[in-house]
Amino acid sequence: QFQAAGVETCFHDRHITPQIYAGLNGSNWSIKDYVARGGYQALRTILGKDGGEGLTQDQVIATVKESGLRGRGGAGFPTGLKWSFMPRQFPGQKYLVCNSDEGEPGTCKDRDILMYNPHIVIEGMIIAAYAMGISVGYNYIHGEIFQVYERFEAALEEARAAGYLGDGILGSGFSFQLHAHHGFGAYICGEETALLESLEGKKGQPRFKPPFPASFGLYGKPTTINNTETFAAVPWIIRNGGAAYLACGKPNNGGTKIFSVSGDVERPGNYEVPMGTPFSKLLELAGGVRTGRQLKAVIPGGSSSPVLPASIIMECTMDYDSIAKAGSMLGSGAVIVMDDSRCMVESLKRLSYFYMHESCGQCTPCREGTGWLWRLVDRIHRGEGRPADMDVLDSVASNIMGRTICALGDAAAMPVRAMIKHFRPEFEALIRNKTPQAAPSA
Ligand code: SF4
Repeated sequence: QFQAAGVETCFHDRHITPQIYAGLNGSNWSIKDYVARGGYQALRTILGKDGGEGLTQDQVIATVKESGLRGRGGAGFPTGLKWSFMPRQFPGQKYLVCNSDEGEPGTCKDRDILMYNPHIVIEGMIIAAYAMGISVGYNYIHGEIFQVYERFEAALEEARAAGYLGDGILGSGFSFQLHAHHGFGAYICGEETALLESLEGKKGQPRFKPPFPASFGLYGKPTTINNTETFAAVPWIIRNGGAAYLACGKPNNGGTKIFSVSGDVERPGNYEVPMGTPFSKLLELAGGVRTGRQLKAVIPGGSSSPVLPASIIMECTMDYDSIAKAGSMLGSGAVIVMDDSRCMVESLKRLSYFYMHESCGQCTPCREGTGWLWRLVDRIHRGEGRPADMDVLDSVASNIMGRTICALGDAAAMPVRAMIKHFRPEFEALIRNKTPQAAPSA
């Protein structure tokens, strides 16, 4: 249902966003259709196989920098800058990794890109590998989406057969081997260093940083990791120029972004819109809040991002800067809409359970703290809360923040603090009245 809604509704902006969704219907994913849409043209251009002189590695990186493209997996780090960190003259093996391990509650964009347009990711990875002088890459695909893995494998076979992957690509001196890797279904494997551990065949647990993957990544070698949607944006940028991509969005927030809109809307799905689109417009595209209901709150960037009440989110535009200024994060672009029928205590209980369940257990504040958070919210939800619980909740969350190896600890604490900040009276009313709520089904 999600996929159908996503593809159908994403046609609306095809004049601005041809690179990922436009014209895709689930049956035209193959290399023949992709090439007919202009696919692999960017690769031909950089390799000088379209009659031109080709682009140097520096020119490719400069174009990506000019585009203002920022990592679409959640962190929003400038992609061109990240590529420039790769030590190009490193004498040993270097690696390129695509992070397709999306597991953030609410996020479902990467699986659609890989399902409906896998070659755009392959082409984006080949261009990235060329720019950084990398000869081996992996796409780490979330462990619970088997069809997507099979689709990507089939696309890889097509690309190899057509000479776009392998030794001496299109008769050039550039070679790149790309492999799909099936993940193991754990949320934490989407954290880049845990992903690398998992890819090496170990338990998927985050590493201390530094060293960062650019110097010590897969098998201890220099590695660049980008999100699926990030790679998918690259061919369009090379074909149309960095300035054109930047112009699709707004300064410091270049291009378009896919938002996975879920929750209490009439038409949930993936919507690709220019960065800087007003939230009200995105909500309208998703059919608006369910009939007869009012907007109560929105989690704008996946479950890790702090919730924003309706009065704040309705004033926001959908880009990194606007959402940050409002006190939250754009994250992966998973927009979870909650109407006025939602109990915020129950919502937080679900989120807290998720993070407790997904903590890898390496560091004490996260391993123990996420459990404390869930037990406290569960107690309040069951109508057994105590007046001091709100302060204890805030204290536990504060003591997790910034004291863990990876960002999961912060991701568990931030929703709690935001709920207390914006919806404290709702929690206190439940503690005061001791009215048990229906148990969540999760
Ligand atoms: Fe593991 Fe949590 Fe520590 Fe991250 S913060 S390393 S998930 S225990």
